[in-house]
Amino acid sequence: MINWRYDVLTNFEFYNVDTVKLAEKYGTPLYVISEDHIVNKCKEIQEDFIKKYTNVRAVYASKAFLNKEMCRIIDREGLGIDVVSGGELYVALQAGFPMEKVIFHGNNKSIKELEMAVDNRVGRIVVDNFYELDLLNSITMEKEKKVEILFRVTPGVDSHTHEYISTGQIDSKFGIPISDNMIYDAASRTTDMKYVEFKGFHFHVGSQLLENTSHLMALETLVTIMKSTEEDLGLETKELNVGGGFGIYYSNGDDPKPLKYFTDAIMEALIDACEKNNLLVPEVIIEPGRWIIGEAGITLYSIGSIKEIPNVRTYVGVDGGMPDNPRTALYQARYEAVIANKIYEEKTDTVTIAGKCCESGDILIWDLNVPKLSHGDILAVKSTGAYNYSMASNYNKIPRPAVVMIKDGKDRLTVRRETYEDLIARNL
Ligand code: PLP
Repeated sequence: MINWRYDVLTNFEFYNVDTVKLAEKYGTPLYVISEDHIVNKCKEIQEDFIKKYTNVRAVYASKAFLNKEMCRIIDREGLGIDVVSGGELYVALQAGFPMEKVIFHGNNKSIKELEMAVDNRVGRIVVDNFYELDLLNSITMEKEKKVEILFRVTPGVDSHTHEYISTGQIDSKFGIPISDNMIYDAASRTTDMKYVEFKGFHFHVGSQLLENTSHLMALETLVTIMKSTEEDLGLETKELNVGGGFGIYYSNGDDPKPLKYFTDAIMEALIDACEKNNLLVPEVIIEPGRWIIGEAGITLYSIGSIKEIPNVRTYVGVDGGMPDNPRTALYQARYEAVIANKIYEEKTDTVTIAGKCCESGDILIWDLNVPKLSHGDILAVKSTGAYNYSMASNYNKIPRPAVVMIKDGKDRLTVRRETYEDLIARNL
């Protein structure tokens, strides 16, 4: 349940904080993240998954949104973290996040990144391909340090989501394909490795999923693989990581489900399939990213130019755009928004919210119903917590916004706004 309030006297409140006052205090564009929302989501994971089943774990997919404060919150809430690069791992390290609770993903980890993971003893490395397996073998031999691995499997499942966030289909850059005994070959190679220990498998079928069918189809494939690796190689699958991908509400038509809609179905299907195949039920790990942070975030912008093209459309320019939120340009994402200082006024106009970049595709929202607008009005775009700040760029040399977190009605800065000096800080 998202805490959006419209019943105050004048302005749009997000988790008991007046968003117009936030815009005045910190400037715009501004990312606002509700810690209350994150904590509620983590509590739901604890209640409906971790306490409900034995031998399960949850890690937060940090690619969705990561800063040091987020690591501290996730640690406090008892979850692990998944990272996909040396940079994400570095943030977790600097935040003092326990390394044994880190899972390291990525389809092209560099030697340096693998060494960093081995040196810092991250909990699991999810091996994506044969090249990486060989690298890891030589790195661990040289350092004489053990690593515990899962193999990322491409289960050959098409998900009902945008093609750019669908990852489980056969034609995918992620993971080892199920064809030609490749998984079997990968697992069998570990039996000769001194420091690389096989723990199990991982799959991630896609993102922003509103149905559980893709997870269930992938699960069926995985149980067959688990059976053959156990029977033929004597390798028991002790862990099965089923990825993330659980969808959220962005705009009219989205029907997001509670976590248990996914996890109950996954657990029931897995327990049943293991029983039928005479396998021990492995530890199950989930990796939600967007589901935890997506609706926790809003972005505040100031309205500048208002350009009416008679009988065509009205473009309303804001002081951000694709550098702070590339999702509309990348995969036609749809958002809802309100005019934070005019929430009671009648919506009389339909406008298109345009960013300030030199790209015609830099549009944040097409056809938004709004009251009469004036320059300086504050636009609040909802559900921007995931894959906005983490995907932000400096295109057109626009400094990235600050990140403010709110909790119990109070605000605090967790990432300061970039300055023009920051833009040239690395120039020689
Ligand atoms: N796990 C893996 C391996 C992923 O690649 C991703 C997203 O790309 C996630 C988890 C998190 O996905 P979501 O944010 O949709 O939950």
